[in-house]
Amino acid sequence: MYGLEHLLLNVFVLLVFLLFVPIVLEINTYKFFNEHKRSIHVVSAMLAITACLLFPIPIMDGYIFDLRLAALTIGGLYGGIPAAMVLAGFTIFFRFIIGGIGAIASVIVISILFILLVCMARSFQKASRKRKIVIASSLSTLAAIVAILNSMVLFGASFSILFLTLYGFTTLCTTAFIVYLYEVFHDHILVHKRVMRAEKMEVVSHLASSISHEVRNPLTTVRGFMQMMLQNEFSEEKRKEFLKISIDEIDRANDIIRDYLTFAKPSPEKVTNLNIKEELERTLHIVTPFAKMNGVEIQEKVDDYSFRGEEQLIQQCLINLTKNCIEAMPNKGRLTIETKEEHGNLLLVISDNGKGMTKEQLARIGEPYFTTKGREGTGLGMLVSIRIIESMSGKLSVESQVNEGTSFFIRFPLVE
Ligand code: ADP
Ligand code: MG
Repeated sequence: MYGLEHLLLNVFVLLVFLLFVPIVLEINTYKFFNEHKRSIHVVSAMLAITACLLFPIPIMDGYIFDLRLAALTIGGLYGGIPAAMVLAGFTIFFRFIIGGIGAIASVIVISILFILLVCMARSFQKASRKRKIVIASSLSTLAAIVAILNSMVLFGASFSILFLTLYGFTTLCTTAFIVYLYEVFHDHILVHKRVMRAEKMEVVSHLASSISHEVRNPLTTVRGFMQMMLQNEFSEEKRKEFLKISIDEIDRANDIIRDYLTFAKPSPEKVTNLNIKEELERTLHIVTPFAKMNGVEIQEKVDDYSFRGEEQLIQQCLINLTKNCIEAMPNKGRLTIETKEEHGNLLLVISDNGKGMTKEQLARIGEPYFTTKGREGTGLGMLVSIRIIESMSGKLSVESQVNEGTSFFIRFPLVE
């Protein structure tokens, strides 16, 4: 049918630039895209408008109809007033480059739409999903109607009823559909992000009992020494020895608490050069109490290597992996941690000699909610760890044999 393929092409363009691109932007983990999210949204909406203008529905000489008004509405409502301003200016500018009498009509329509967008932008941001759909689709349909009336009254254009219905209907449906899907995805992504954050809290609370146990031990020791010193006379030498042990014990408890809090507290995102040896020391402060509780011995061969990352996140990842290894050795076992250099990468190997995984389990690792630990597990630790490693340009691979053990290989680009 005449013009239908152009209309569908317009719909497709809007879906790509106003739905697909923003969603991909939401789920990506790259810093650059996260920092420039707003500008990318605007550029994407500009591309949508450009593409609409380049593939319009030919109606009569000098007039072009397309879904640019829908693109402008969605881009303006989501981006707020500054975005609406940029997009409206851009649309008018580009429409004039194309030329024809419709360009002047376009200025009138876009100005009206722009004023409506400015009025609605605030309440749109706060509106519920349903209201957002109503606001966006009525604005874009209204703009489409104004565009048609405008060209009929001022320029004497005439249209078939079929075209009018099709054009209005497509504008309405496309806008409603895009806003609806975007909102659904957005909520879904939000829930997912919250779950990821909750996973950390789960680990924090899980480790809390072993940590408090580990902190209580030195306190008991120190208290015992003090009581002894209070009740008995000791030689100067003995006294000094007691005091030295007490100070060491208190320092240890202090270190554990400090590192645990570093891990547990939320902190602003900060990528810095990290030293793997220091990071592993911190991790071990936190998981050693847990290892002791499970009769697991820790063996490490760790050297100084620098890599780039975010301390909090790398801690979360290292704690998840070492905790999994310890949990795979409920009675006793050995947790081995090694670092090496390999083709300009830092290779970190964390392995256990615990129960291991079957091929099926290995294949499912990193799948959300996959756990063999029943109510004790969340099945999110591996997913979060993989995400964290990838966000720092690293790679994780896993090898495992049933009843022999599991090894995690983590590679990060080295920094000089
Ligand atoms: P959770 O630890 O809460 O179960 P994870 O995502 O951390 O969730 O791990 C998912 C599953 O992967 C675990 O339930 C376990 O079956 C398996 N797994 C992970 N690490 C190991 C390991 N070192 N040894 C054996 N199985 C492991
Ligand atoms: Mg786990």
